Amino acid sequence: MTDFHDFELNDAIARALTEEKYTTPTPIQAQTIPSVMAGRDVIGIAQTGTGKTAAFALPILHRLAGNPRRLEHKTCRVLVLSPTRELSGQILDSFRAYGRHLRLKSALAIGGVSMGAQVRSLMHGVEILVATPGRLLDLVQGNALRLGGVECFVLDEADRMLDMGFIADIRKIVAKLPANRQTLMFSATMPAAIADLAAHMLRDPVKVAVTPTASTAERIDQRIIRVDRAAKPAILVDLLRQETIDRALVFTRTKHGADKVVRRLNQAGIAAEAIHGNKSQGQRERVLAAFRSGKVRTLVATDIAARGIDVDGISHVVNFDLPNVPETYVHRIGRTARAGADGIAISLCDAEEMAFLRDIEKLIRLSLPMTDRRAHPQRAEAPAAPGRRDGHGHGNRNANGNGNGQRRRQDHGDNGAGRQSHRGRPHRAQPQNGQPRNAQPRKTSVQETSAPDTGIAAVAFLRRDGAADRRPGAPRWTDQSRGS
Ligand code: AMP
Repeated sequence: MTDFHDFELNDAIARALTEEKYTTPTPIQAQTIPSVMAGRDVIGIAQTGTGKTAAFALPILHRLAGNPRRLEHKTCRVLVLSPTRELSGQILDSFRAYGRHLRLKSALAIGGVSMGAQVRSLMHGVEILVATPGRLLDLVQGNALRLGGVECFVLDEADRMLDMGFIADIRKIVAKLPANRQTLMFSATMPAAIADLAAHMLRDPVKVAVTPTASTAERIDQRIIRVDRAAKPAILVDLLRQETIDRALVFTRTKHGADKVVRRLNQAGIAAEAIHGNKSQGQRERVLAAFRSGKVRTLVATDIAARGIDVDGISHVVNFDLPNVPETYVHRIGRTARAGADGIAISLCDAEEMAFLRDIEKLIRLSLPMTDRRAHPQRAEAPAAPGRRDGHGHGNRNANGNGNGQRRRQDHGDNGAGRQSHRGRPHRAQPQNGQPRNAQPRKTSVQETSAPDTGIAAVAFLRRDGAADRRPGAPRWTDQSRGS
């Protein structure tokens, strides 16, 4: 499928897609849409940024449009579960944007806001309900919603649900759904617990998998800065001053860490806000709105809070801390280089995080260029993985030809931005053809540089040229949950 017309979607949906300026389906859409239209269950391995929301929303809308029904009180025909409030809101916005020429009712059921409006919005039933698991169960237990009429159930970001401890809730919800439903499940990764859940939930599913994590990573200009732990805040300040930043998303491992980084940036005169689980829904929305509008250009987030933030135009992702789960790194850097923009991902890596870096490189099958900004690089080097960073053939030696596992500091001018190591741009770590990985052509020179290279290696996977506004209030939808 190379054109949306090939799917023969309902005319009203096709019109909305033209308005959104979507012409070519993404791979996940090409694989998923026909199966869902045909009523099959689907399990999709795909992450945010691949166009997976439209991959399930479009065929679901098509099926609803082709099968209108009188709504029963306190029911929904389609139930979409997502792990976070932000992602839920974005999914609902997508349904409303693609279905703006259909007369369908939809609602949002998320925590952090009062239940009253949600109870009212469900009173007369809706076609589409997008919810987070906890609030959904509260509504069911409070008799505001019955799940016996669900025709289609979507579980989005299943692996994240697992990380966030929602699996028991999901099993409770699934137990309340009718057996003769259609089920779609999406997950960026497939840990055993999720495979188990899939086996329990899905009937003879069509399996689709797109964008192996490596290919997303290849499209983003990624750099590592080797640092001393204590110097991280100062180096971050430096970076944010040096780089030409439209919007930067800075990741920390903990909420406390996020607040600390924000304080440090503010002290240095850099406007920054934190977004994490301790913030109220109102605060999160205010911060996100300021970030979207460009009033605040630096957002400091924890993984859970940042998950699913769909803000186009994030020019930089900075990993203040490297994640210990390599897939998380891929999720993080996927926040940039979205919707046709270019993206740069910079990670500060201290001695303890070297092991995390090695796992990440293994997963993305790239060896990332490294700049060394440690005070005494020749001293505290973490042990190198065998056959990896150093001493792995000629191309992996440092610029001095020193392959003994130590990276020498280069003594030419440092403007504060550090020096790039021997490795230049990312290149495949393990080429399939059996050649040593350093035999791969490199896009740029591997010379030492004294400033971070701001050249763009990234090409976004998706382009959303002048797409229509997906925010709440798209015309013709009955906005049940937002009081309009
Ligand atoms: P998602 O992976 O669903 O979060 O989608 C990522 C971004 O891609 C969103 O901004 C969508 O609006 C956009 N998008 C999805 N499908 C297409 C498409 N076929 N053509 C252009 N943009 C798209």
